[in-house]
Amino acid sequence: MRTGTSIPSEHRGRLLHTIYGWYALTREQADLGPFDTAEKASRALTRHIHIYRGLNNRNPDDQARMHLHDTEHCQRNNCALCVEAKVAQHSMMLVAV
Ligand SMILES: [Zn+2]
Repeated sequence: MRTGTSIPSEHRGRLLHTIYGWYALTREQADLGPFDTAEKASRALTRHIHIYRGLNNRNPDDQARMHLHDTEHCQRNNCALCVEAKVAQHSMMLVAV
């Protein structure tokens, strides 16, 4: 068994840090989180991938989701990208005032 807090390199692009904590992005209906550390988010993602492996085929929208996220029409539960977008929007509003 591996020890330490290292995060698998394939998880790095799927962990998102917001002011609420760390989220793990999934291909399923809901993202995971928030967690207080990246390691916890990574461990949750490992469990999640293990559970969903083979159940859900990769779909072409996934790549788009990573680059351009439509928060107005997002149907996901607990969506980390929506959280990030709302936080960013709020920060911009604070700057604009
Ligand atoms: Zn979303």
